Order: sequence, then structure tokens, then C-alpha cells
Amino acid sequence: MKKYGLNELRELFLAFFEEKDHLRLPSFPLVPQNDPSLLLINSGMAPMKTWFTGEQEPPRKRVCTCQKCIRTGDIDNVGKTSRHGTYFEMLGNFSFGDYFKSEAIAWCWEFLTERLGMDPGLLYPSVFIDDEQAFNIWVNEVGIAPERIAKLGRDDNFWDHGSGPCGPCSEVYFDRGGENGCGSPDCAPGCDCDRYVEIWNNVFTQFDNDGAGNYSELSQKNIDTGLGLERLACVCQGVGNLFEVDTVVSIIGKVSEISGVTYGSDEKHDISIRVITDHIRSATMMICDGVLPSNEGRGYVLRRLLRRAARHGRLLGLTKAFLYDVCLTVVEQNKGAYPDLTEKAGHITRVIRSEEENFGKTIDAGTAILGGLVEELARKGQTTLSGADAFKLYDTYGFPLDLTVEILAEQGLQADVDSFDEHMQEQRVRARKAREALGDLAWAGVDLGLDNTPTEFIGYETLKCSAAVLAIVTQGEVCSSMRSGDEGIIVLDKTPFYAEMGGQSADYGNIKTAGAEFEVNNVLLSKGGKYLHHGKMLDGSINVDDNAEAEVDITRRRAIMRAHSATHLLHEALRAVLGEHVRQAGSLVEQDKLRFDFTHISALTKDELTEIERRANSAILDGLDVSVCEMPVNEAKELGAMALFGEKYGDVVRVVKMGDLSVELCGGTHLENTAKIGAFSIIAEFSVASGVRRIEAITGLETLNALNTARGHLSVLSGMLKAGAPEEIAGKLEQNMQVLRELRGALDTAVAKEARGEAARILTGARELGGLKVITTIVEDTAVDIDRLRQIEDMLRDWEAGVVAVLAAVKDDKITLMAACGKAAIEKGVKAGELIREITKLCGGSGGGKPDFAMGGGKDITKLHDALNAVYDIVTEKLNTP
Ligand code: ATP
Ligand code: MG
Repeated sequence: MKKYGLNELRELFLAFFEEKDHLRLPSFPLVPQNDPSLLLINSGMAPMKTWFTGEQEPPRKRVCTCQKCIRTGDIDNVGKTSRHGTYFEMLGNFSFGDYFKSEAIAWCWEFLTERLGMDPGLLYPSVFIDDEQAFNIWVNEVGIAPERIAKLGRDDNFWDHGSGPCGPCSEVYFDRGGENGCGSPDCAPGCDCDRYVEIWNNVFTQFDNDGAGNYSELSQKNIDTGLGLERLACVCQGVGNLFEVDTVVSIIGKVSEISGVTYGSDEKHDISIRVITDHIRSATMMICDGVLPSNEGRGYVLRRLLRRAARHGRLLGLTKAFLYDVCLTVVEQNKGAYPDLTEKAGHITRVIRSEEENFGKTIDAGTAILGGLVEELARKGQTTLSGADAFKLYDTYGFPLDLTVEILAEQGLQADVDSFDEHMQEQRVRARKAREALGDLAWAGVDLGLDNTPTEFIGYETLKCSAAVLAIVTQGEVCSSMRSGDEGIIVLDKTPFYAEMGGQSADYGNIKTAGAEFEVNNVLLSKGGKYLHHGKMLDGSINVDDNAEAEVDITRRRAIMRAHSATHLLHEALRAVLGEHVRQAGSLVEQDKLRFDFTHISALTKDELTEIERRANSAILDGLDVSVCEMPVNEAKELGAMALFGEKYGDVVRVVKMGDLSVELCGGTHLENTAKIGAFSIIAEFSVASGVRRIEAITGLETLNALNTARGHLSVLSGMLKAGAPEEIAGKLEQNMQVLRELRGALDTAVAKEARGEAARILTGARELGGLKVITTIVEDTAVDIDRLRQIEDMLRDWEAGVVAVLAAVKDDKITLMAACGKAAIEKGVKAGELIREITKLCGGSGGGKPDFAMGGGKDITKLHDALNAVYDIVTEKLNTP
């Protein structure tokens, strides 16, 4: 059999099935599109579900693909078995109501034995025990001896997932030889050991399961096959492990190179190298397809993979971030098949590096603490870490439970996971209570005595209406009326006021009856759906059951609408400029002001910001019509509506569309046309959490205000600098700075000269002591400047190797003491640090430093002379000590 590279095998397979009339499609992204039931694509058929069920028409009845797959369920096998990765590619040929078992089996055999030239003697088919049809095809049409065909049971060879299409499978196993097996006399295809490797699985979807286990024949029978590309390459390249196939082994090589650990020298290290190799492959491909690390869903899968890889790096002795470097090898090996890897390489490495660096801090702290806990267990002779300790690691230090469990398991220990779960549960309850307490504030802490009918909101259509007063709260109590000067809450049966919700601020305005006015300055929604109008009675009084006129402040509302419509344009522009990985992570909409948080790993460049601003503004100039309609969730998603991941939506959703540019699920209030936003300007962009950026922006007249403020600043500046026009400011400023630099230079020279004079004068007062020049002096300077003193000390030390200079200065009854010792003095045992420590003590202070320079302070001025005199004694003593 010829040896083929992994990239060659992919091409051979797809070309083979193209010859058999299949339509070759590119791999679908790892993130499922329109399939909430699945976190990540895990097989070739997963993205084609609707073609299998008949819900949607496939582009052709025969399709073949090479699909990127992630199976985190296999994570514990990775690095330990020779055939499992969390990331792998699955080759597949599919038939939607077209060919069936005969062709699928014949082509599978033809490809392996003829196209690739595999030895038929090493291949073993398996069939489902009750599938006589498949068995007969293998025997009669392919010519396999009956005893070579394994008949396996439901667990292995019947593909069934609750209700829906299902059917028997027929697999092909490759025999890697007895030396790779478990040695059991029963070892045969289907055994869990590494001798017989399943390389190809053909699923014959021929039944429909009604969910209660009743099977009926499908009218449209399908073929769904899966052939692991890495496993095939293993067999074709004669290597024992999917980590040793050509494209993967170079990643192993890179990890070895960075860590300096030779692959194959130590089994534990090998496992770590394989885990890193596998996880970095998964992480690279996931990030390329738009996943970012987070604490939930697929983002958590990614985070867990990266963290696990980082930890195995530590086991290899790596202490710094390194995965981002390994990921470049993954890009290199796969860019031929997945060209977008090259394009996104910068983004991918940034994401990995920042996650790695953040986790590095957590892991060091957590590992140290866990180490201490393990020692304590050993002292007590115990083997189980308490749930409380595991929870503390998690809660206080961010150390994930799975890592705690894994580290403990490596030492034959365990964690009390049940008790950990209880702690987690208790914390959730605590958090909920805290939230409820906040919610109660919205209720003003009182029972309104009303039924649970939500307030009717009519604020999408109108800003003004007549309504009945249902309840009034003042001073925290339900009452029947509110008088001038009272503050409180009014509840109406219907309202045009938008309550603070989904990041949009509440409407303000007033509620009036004849002769009475209540000013509304906030509106909150109660849990039961009642709109609580908070505010103050300006005039007269309002009673329960009154008929009132409610009116929204239109200026404020329109400013909020401008900001909200602009937020949608910003969201669209961010995705267009930065990429599809951008997801809304929070938003606040106020009067002509907005704040938008989104997932993105790095700071935006000036060019990116300019382009985003330009894109949003041209959508404003295009004057796109804004339409709002309600529709079932599924329809909205088909329209491409951007929904928040993990957010719950009702069956019917409100969809806000701006021309053909933006479609979002949104409950907020919007303009009729984007032109009414006026203008949009970004004022800030920064990070709010790891992987989350924030943009602050303004709209409408705020942009004009900002422009005028900026103009004002410029005109003040140009006045101060006597620059005629703003563009002359920079030139003028540069001139002034040049003058300043020159003056400062001249000043420094003058000051140094003066200090030199002072230093020389001080040196003349030195007393000779055993070859050293000892100086003590109080510097007479009313404006004692520490820097200048230090400068003098430095000069003395430079000039005289034998100098011991102690300078004192007094200011505001505080003494500053400095000492410098030259080289020769230090050699004779006189050290500035020791000197200062002793003499500062003598005048009620403290201090210290290095042998050549030290400083300190004292408080008792009456003792200063004694302290300085002590210097001579100390030096003499040092000189006399051998
Ligand atoms: P196994 O029993 O060996 O875990 P499986 O029954 O889970 O395999 P299928 O779901 O039938 O595998 O997937 C089809 C093909 O995909 C397999 O025949 C195999 O070649 C490949 N495959 C499955 N899981 C992995 C994995 N974790 N890593 C690499 N290849 C895999
Ligand atoms: Mg299987």
C-alpha cells in the first residue's frame, strides 16, 4: 500500500465520490447554524439533519464532505488511546433517498482496497446482528468470507437517537496486529482495545422511531457514513497513533521543541504532549469558527480545552504562555484545506495568548493552594478533598473543579463532588435571594393589592393616552391618593411609558388630572408585569380610580430612540468590520448616548474604529426604513435575526429590521428611518472583562455638542499659542517645546555647576581618618531639595573613592539624613546602610539602604549634632575591626 499524506487522503476520498456523482461541499463551521440542540458539530451528518428528515431539500441527492468535528465526550480518552482526538475530520458520503446499502458497501470497499490499495486481509466488516440484508451484500456482492464478518448488537451497530430517523450500521475495522491488542482470547472487531480500529461507519437510516420504540420503514431511505480522516491516515502511514500522522506529528514536534522534552522518552510526558497537541488543534479550529472563551456553552468548552492544555504545559515544565506559538503550526498544517485559518491567524493567536496569560495567574495561585490542601490530607491520612475546600478554590480563586479533580486523581486522591455541588447550589440560592431583594425595591416593598394582569403597554404606537389610576404608593405604603410634594409610584391600567428594560432607559413625562400633575422620572417593571411610574406630585392631588392623562416626554424618547437605532447599526458594523465572532454582551441606551459591550479579544485599532464609524454613518445617510414586526422565533432566525446566545425568547418575537442591513430581535423603541439618528460618533473604546470590549458613542445633537466642545478646546489652545488656525497648533507647540527643552538643558547645567561648587566646598571640610575622608555636615538650605542633596552625594562618591559623606538637612522640624560611601571606604567595611541605620536611631528616626548610598529621617533636632559626631566613632570602630 502506498503511503499517503493526510491532505492527500482527503482529496482522494472527495474525488472518488465526485466520480460517483456526489456533490462535494466544504466543511460546515464547527458552530451549528440554527440547531440549538447541539453545542458543536460532532459528525459529518450533524449539519445536514434537515436534509435527512426531509424538512429541507439538499442541493443534490448525493453529497460528500470532509467535516471538522469536535467531540468533547472523548476528552478523557485523548492521549491515552491511540485513536481518539477531541478534534478530528470526518470524511463522509451521503445519500438522501437515493442509493442504499448495496452501493454504500461496495464503494466503501472499493475505495479502501482498490483506490488506496489496502490489504483486504487486514479489513474486517461488521454488521448489525439482525441486518441480514447487509450481511448478504458483504458475502455475495463483495465476496467476503462469512466468518470474517462480525455481527454486533444494538449498542455498537444500531444508530438511534430518541425519536426520528434511525437504522443499523455496518463498520469496517482495521487489524493493527496482535501486538497492539489486549491479548484476550475474545479479542475481535468491536473490542475496546487498540488492535481492531473502527475506521469507517456506514449508517443505513431506514426506520422512523416514533419515540416510544415503535419502528416503521421510512419511505425515503438515507445513507450516512463517517470515516475518520486521522484514523485512515494512521493506517495508510503505518503509524500506531493518530498523533503520529504527518500533519499532527509536526505539532508534537513543536511542543517538544518549545518544552525541550523529547517525545517518546517518558510515558507521562508523552500523554501531556499529546493532550496539548490535541487541544490546541481543537482550540485553533473553534476560534477560527467564531468561538471565544467564556463561562458557558461552547465558550466554556473552548476555555476548558485551553486551560487543560495550559496545565499540561506546566507538567512539561513550561511556565509561560506557549500555546499561541504552537497554534501557528496548526495553522501551517491546515491552511491548505481551510484557507480562512491564515486570514484569522492573528485573531486566533491573540485569543489564545490572552486566555493563557489570564489562566496562568489563576493556575499558579490555585495549584499552590491545592498543594497545601493535599499535604494536609496526607497528614490526616485522608484521600478525599472536602466539597467546601474544592468550592473555595473555585469560588475564591477561579480554579475550575475539573482541574481540581484531575490533579487529585493524578495522586490517587479525589474530591467530594456531591458536596461541591451542594455548595454551588447554596450559592445560587444566595445569589437569587440577593436579586429578589433588588427586585423588591422595584415593587417598593409593598403588595399593591392588584391582580396579576400586566399593564397594557401602548407606547410603541403612541406617546399619550387616557388611563385609569389603579394604585398609588407613597412613603412605602399603598394609599388612595397622592398630594402635592409627595413622592411615590402610580400604577395605571395602560401606559405609553417604556419601562427600563433590555438596557433601554425608561421614558420620563407626566401624568395629569384636572388641576393635578405628577412628574414621572423613572419607570420600572414589576415581576408581575405592572409598570411602576416613579415620580413626584408637582401640583394638586391624584386619587385611585381617577381618570388621568399620561404623556411621555417626546424629546427624551426621541433621543433614546436615536441611540437605540444607532446601537443596531453599530452592532452590524462591528460584525462587518471585526468578524462574525462579535456578539452583544450587554448594552445601555440613554438619551443620545449608548454603551455597547461585545465579545472581541483585542483593542480596536484606529482604522477599525474609523471604519465602524464610517459604516454606521453611511447607513444613516442611506435613510434606511426601519420596520418592526412580530413573528415566530424560527421565522425570525431564518431572516438571520441576531439573537443573544443563551437568552430565552418567547414563541413570538419582535423583529426590528433596518433596510436589508440589520435584523435583530429587540423589544425597544426605534425611529421610523435611520436618517433620523442624525449622526453617530464613537467617544471611547476599552476593555471591560477578558474578551469583552465596550464602545461608548453618541448620536443626534450630542454629536454637534461634542464637536463644539472640541472646537472650543481648539480655539482656546490656538489663542494660548497665538496660532492663527487650528492646523497651526501642532507647529506652534513643537516650537514651544523646543524652547522648553533648551531652557531645561541650560538650567540643568547651571544647577549641576552650582551643586559641584557646593560639593567641592563640603569636601574641603573632610576629616582624614585611616586613609578615608569623612564628612558630616548640615546643609544650610532653606528649600532643602532631596534630589539636589543626592546629586551632591553622587558627586562626592565619584570624586573620592575613600569618601564617607553624611549630609543632613532640616526642614519643618524634620531631619533628612543621607550617607554615601566610596569604593575604598566600603572595602574597609564602612557601609552607608549601616551608618544611616545607627545614626538615625540616635535622633529618633530610622532609615537604611545599600553600602554605597542610604538615607533616612529623624525627629529630634537636639540630638542631630550627637548623631553626626557618632559617625566618626563608628568609622573609627570599623577601621579597627579586622
Ligand atoms: P469509537 O467507538 O472508536 O469511539 P465511534 O463509534 O464513536 O468510534 P462514529 O460515531 O461511528 O465513531 O464516527 C465515525 C468515524 O469517525 C469513526 O469510524 C472514526 O473513524 C471517526 N472517529 C470517531 N470518533 C473519533 C475521535 N474521537 N477521534 C478521531 N476519529 C474519530
Ligand atoms: Mg461506532
